[in-house]
Amino acid sequence: MPKVIILGCGASAYIVKSLYPESIIIGKASLTPTFSLGLHYIHNKNVARLFPSEPLFITTVIDGQEATEETILKYKKKIYGESNRRYNNKPHQFEYCSVGYKFDIDKSFRPDIEGKVKSVNIKDKVVLLEGNGVSEISYDILINTIPLNIFEFLLEEDRRWSKDETYQFSPICVHIEQHPHISPMRIGNLVVNYLSNPVTPIYREVTCYHRNIVTYQSEHILTDNCRNSWTKAVINPGKLLNSGNYEYFVSILRNRNIYCLGRFAQWDNKIMLEDVYNDAVEILLDNRITN
Ligand SMILES: Cc1cc2nc3c(=O)[nH]c(=O)nc-3n(C[C@H](O)[C@H](O)[C@H](O)COP(=O)(O)OP(=O)(O)OC[C@H]3O[C@@H](n4cnc5c(N)ncnc54)[C@H](O)[C@@H]3O)c2cc1C
Repeated sequence: MPKVIILGCGASAYIVKSLYPESIIIGKASLTPTFSLGLHYIHNKNVARLFPSEPLFITTVIDGQEATEETILKYKKKIYGESNRRYNNKPHQFEYCSVGYKFDIDKSFRPDIEGKVKSVNIKDKVVLLEGNGVSEISYDILINTIPLNIFEFLLEEDRRWSKDETYQFSPICVHIEQHPHISPMRIGNLVVNYLSNPVTPIYREVTCYHRNIVTYQSEHILTDNCRNSWTKAVINPGKLLNSGNYEYFVSILRNRNIYCLGRFAQWDNKIMLEDVYNDAVEILLDNRITN
């Protein structure tokens, strides 16, 4: 079997490790992965099985209205601009009403090798780490989950592929409140509201009624206001603007046995963890990696 190295230890790395336990994760616990922030939910049962999870009814609305082809398109045009080419079909995250799962990452999840990646030598297929201890790790297949804007600068080769591209994003902060709640329902309810008003820094609200607790989570484009008051954490890069031709860059890396996996590593804001799962299965199948 080829030696599979995963860079980063967030949810994408967790999914690959669950599918292929022989893979080796390199990551740094102190670099906060986005997964540790906030409430997470998913629609797909196969993916939910990999995590400690519980079922929910999920309702998705846009500016408080039902998510239809029309409201979604209107929303996307407002957020990403008229000319954005990534207006694909209705993504599953906008499913109006569905059964889904609230889930968490297994708290015992740790990288196999604790360290911050300093650079990647594509030619020799070696990852170099900062600091003492193990400093060089070879790979046959590299699965990168580190955000692409950082990863690009870890490559030792000339970065000619994306030099014309700029990485546009808005750091976001997540605010969470929890209160006791008396629910007559056995299965929880979750409502996701996507907001498109450009003058409102909140762009998504999630309210979850589950096990006598109501959790309200709002995701904000970072402003000085929210930085200073009740901010739980700042996510960087946060909200990505799908502005460049990153698919091309990612495909060039793939030809060199480097697979970028996850929302930030692929620089594509529509990616949810179910997409990560599908992509991870495909990477393993393509390389004939089975358990
Ligand atoms: C607020 C918010 C809520 C979301 N909610 C959902 C949801 O409910 N459901 C869903 O399906 N998706 C959701 N997403 C989208 C996405 O699927 C998740 O953010 C997911 O957790 C991303 O995981 P990841 O592993 O790809 O990236 P990350 O969690 O960002 O992991 C990247 C890893 O790279 C590491 N790293 C960075 N630099 C280095 C370095 N130099 N050396 C070593 N390691 C490094 C970091 O430590 C981190 O471990 C959400 C996104 C956001 C921002």
